[in-house]
Order: sequence, then C-alpha cells, then structure tokens
Amino acid sequence: MVVTKAMVLREFNRPLVLEEVDRPVFGEDEVLLKVKAAGVCGTDLKIQQGLVPTKELPLIPGHEVAGVVAATGEKVCQFRAGDEVLVSFYLPCNRCRTCLSGRQTICENLRGRIGFEFNGGFAEYVAVPEACLLPKPPTLTFRQAAVIPDAIATCYHALVKRAKVKAGDDLLLIGAGGGLGLHALQLARWLGARTIGVDVSAEKLQLMQEYGAEIVIDGRDPDWSSRVLACTGGHGARHAVNFVYHEQSIAGAIKALGKGGQLVMVAYAPEFKFDALRAHLFELDLLGTRAATKDDIAECLSLVVAGKVEPVIGEVLKLEDLNEGLQLIKNGNLKGRLVLDIE
Ligand SMILES: [Zn+2]
Ligand SMILES: [Zn+2]
Repeated sequence: MVVTKAMVLREFNRPLVLEEVDRPVFGEDEVLLKVKAAGVCGTDLKIQQGLVPTKELPLIPGHEVAGVVAATGEKVCQFRAGDEVLVSFYLPCNRCRTCLSGRQTICENLRGRIGFEFNGGFAEYVAVPEACLLPKPPTLTFRQAAVIPDAIATCYHALVKRAKVKAGDDLLLIGAGGGLGLHALQLARWLGARTIGVDVSAEKLQLMQEYGAEIVIDGRDPDWSSRVLACTGGHGARHAVNFVYHEQSIAGAIKALGKGGQLVMVAYAPEFKFDALRAHLFELDLLGTRAATKDDIAECLSLVVAGKVEPVIGEVLKLEDLNEGLQLIKNGNLKGRLVLDIE
C-alpha cells in the first residue's frame, strides 16, 4: 500500500491529527483524485464537534475539493489521468422521484456525501465517483475552484432554485459578510435584487459594501429590523436569508419580512423558535435549502468564468494547519472563504 497524508478526525471535540494513511482504494466507476485545494467551512467545525451525522470515526472530512485525476477505475469513461476537476460532494441515485425533479440533494436513496459518510479531501488523495466530477476550467485556480461547490453553489441553490429571487426583490441577507454571504451578495446583484446586508463588525460591514450590498445595516443595533422596514418603505423584505444561526437573527428576520415574505434557512440548528403568530398573519413562507446539486455547481462555474461572481478567498493555509483554520472559523474573523493548499 502506498502511504499518503491526511487530517483524520479520531475523536469529536479534539483536534484533527495529521496521519500517514493508506492511499484510498477506488472502485471501477471512481477516480483517485490528487487533491490540490480544499475549502473549509462552518460545517467542518460542526463535524468536528459531532453535531452533524457522519460515518463512524475515524473520518477524513473535507467536502469542497478541487484536484487532478491521478488514476481511473475500469468503467470511468469521461475523465482520464491528468484532468483538472472539482467535486460535487453529494452522491445521489439520479433515478428517484426527487432526483428526477432536479433536487438531488434530497435524493430518496442518497448514498452519502464526500467528507461526511465517505472520506473527504483534507488529504493528499481522495476516491470520487466519476459522476461527481466537473471539469475545472483552465482559467480558474484550484483555490478558486474549491470555493465553488459549497460557498458559491449553496448560495445559488438557495437564491435561485429555492427562493426564486427576482430582479427588484428586496433581499435581506443576514450574516452577509461571511464566507457564504459575500458570494450571495454577488449572486443577488447578478439577479438584479435590491440587497440589504446585515452583519456585526465594522470590517464585515465594509466587506458587504465592497461585494455589492446596496444597504448595509449593523446587526449590533438591537432594533436593526426596524431599519430594514424603514429602507423598504415600511413594506418589509421579500426574502430574508439567514447565513448565521442565532435565535435573535431568526426573530429579527421575521420582524423584517413583509407580508407574503419568505424566511430562507441556509444556516440551521436542530430546532428554533419563531413567531408563528406573525407567520400566520403575514402568510410567511419558511424555506429549507440544502447544499447544491451538480447542475447548480456547473451554473456557478459559468458565472465565475464570466466574471459575474468572484470567489472570495479570505485565508489560505496548509493541510496540517487545518485545526488553526477551524479556530479562525469559530472566531468568525475570516474575510471570505478558508482554503487549504494541498501539495
Ligand atoms: Zn462546506
Ligand atoms: Zn435519487
């Protein structure tokens, strides 16, 4: 067996450990991918804390992966060694009722996800089904490519596929200065929505402005939702998208929504309280949104290549510095997405 390096989660709430592991075995319809860059997100922190269902430990997390095909299984026909690719990390059946309706992330026979139920990309090598690969355009770096499958495509799925945001809609983005929010702002500008960004530090307010927020509101003001009402002529927002989860951010969103408005939950918790009376009186919609399909990722690739959305990389670290990176996410100090460079 060839030995390679990986960051392994052996115990919840403990740092991941840099280990020498066997190079992954790959099936006849899979490729062995040499990872070049892997994005890190809040979900990885939740995985480390044991708050998200995964396979039994040990686990190599990492679901935002870009790299080079190193070897291919016998049945792989679309890709060959040397191809530069990025990965759609859900493994849907592509045959069930929900898959056929274009909603593969809620596949009724979901096999799992790379970096959750299967070992992921915080490693030199990862095994990936051919069906999950997308060619990386040569004009994009591996770092940029690693930002697309989650940090950009999750926002695309939420705004375009789920919320169906239209030109002129008042769109409230809560936590818009973060790794997802800065991409949501750019997508919202592309959709022609009127964006109102809320975040809680001077630096993030500045970043929201740089990435296209038309109106910026300081969420440290306890009455920030009144300011949303004021800047929407008293009507309230059409959509409120939560990129951070706090009881206050949900309560504020509900207050800031107009009649017939829609609460979009990108960030989530196992349960949350909300003002059901207001939801009734205003006929509010509560909208769940789960990751992104391979088609969403392909559409985001086109948007990035066309210059409509720029991947925002806040920090680049090495594979062995992953624990430090998770701490940065925990502290909320990143100015964009965290990406690991993997040699
Ligand atoms: Zn992620
Ligand atoms: Zn399916």
